[in-house]
Amino acid sequence: MKWMLKHIDPKLLTFITTHTCTSACAGCCFACSPKKRGSLSSAFMKGIVDYVVDTMPSIKGSGVHRW
Ligand code: SF4
Repeated sequence: MKWMLKHIDPKLLTFITTHTCTSACAGCCFACSPKKRGSLSSAFMKGIVDYVVDTMPSIKGSGVHRW
């Protein structure tokens, strides 16, 4: 699948920390709702930040730093 090999230079890292929402809109791209539970742990997000900083040079200088 050629589209999967496309090179990208991300400048931004965003976390959707939970899918819990007070609404349950039919068109929600994350299928959020009051029934959804769970959230990303800080340890998981730290691991992602470290990986991105180590492997994606374009992200440096964009405000993403190890913590
Ligand atoms: S679109 Fe999704 S995240 Fe936004 S208010 Fe609706 S259910 Fe919540």
